[in-house]
Amino acid sequence: MIDRPAIFITGAAAGIGRATAELYAAKGWFVGLYDLAGSACEGLRQQFGPEFAISESLDVTDVAAFEAALTRFWAKTGRLDVMFNNAGILHTGDFAEMPLARHHALVDVNLKGVINGAHAAFPFLKQTRRSALINMASASAINGTPAFATYGATKFAVKGLTEALSIEWAQHGIRVMDLLPLFVATPMVHNVAAPPKSVGRLGIKLKADDIAAMVWSASQWRLWPRTHWYPGIQTKLLAWANKLLPAMVNRYSTKLVTGY
Ligand code: NAD
Repeated sequence: MIDRPAIFITGAAAGIGRATAELYAAKGWFVGLYDLAGSACEGLRQQFGPEFAISESLDVTDVAAFEAALTRFWAKTGRLDVMFNNAGILHTGDFAEMPLARHHALVDVNLKGVINGAHAAFPFLKQTRRSALINMASASAINGTPAFATYGATKFAVKGLTEALSIEWAQHGIRVMDLLPLFVATPMVHNVAAPPKSVGRLGIKLKADDIAAMVWSASQWRLWPRTHWYPGIQTKLLAWANKLLPAMVNRYSTKLVTGY
């Protein structure tokens, strides 16, 4: 077993995954870097010092490849302190106009990819003391958002999965949490061809480093079970409003922000 804690990160080549990898490497952790873009992960591994990281090309929708990657990670580390299910894709637009294949791709990567990761990681998390599974949800899981219908549906599902597993896996000493940020300045948001109105109206206030810092806080949190993490004031306000205000008010403000 290696003498430093170890994290396995999907979607590590860019955005939030990359920022998280950099933070954990700076904290002295062993970092597993996994992404479709394997060469970018290899670049990061060289940057961190080849002996302090492992990098592989991985498609989170490929169950056998996911299991094999985790087995190789375990063979090298003998521990899995944090499993960060971060890889995700975004397609936005009117639901009916978006080709069905895009809706299905969102479910395959954002939901099934997270289920694949949780399922494959479980035996290793169980064998590691005080381990944590951290899933990337989104503020799209706070209320149903026009132009983000299926993306949001996958994130609602991730939130539900996280909540269930946080109770189911407590008996094994595994903490299970998710993060639900509003827009973060990453290639995901910058590369959207025709950004929905809500992006302009709410603005992009969060940076990938803010999210990485919250992943770190969540992984270090030991005081009481704290399942959902809302990065930034804007996201927290949205979550509180959704809990405290009547449904009609939330519906109206969502219409206002999204322009539907
Ligand atoms: P990003 O596009 O910048 O990076 C995502 C990474 O995931 C890319 O490197 C990509 O190659 C990888 N990836 C995509 N499909 C994959 C697959 N099938 N297998 C393996 N890797 C794959 O996106 P990001 O903004 O860093 O998003 C990371 C996570 O955060 C996603 O789950 C996203 O839904 C979530 N999120 C992002 C925002 C935001 O505004 N950026 C807000 C809330 C939640």
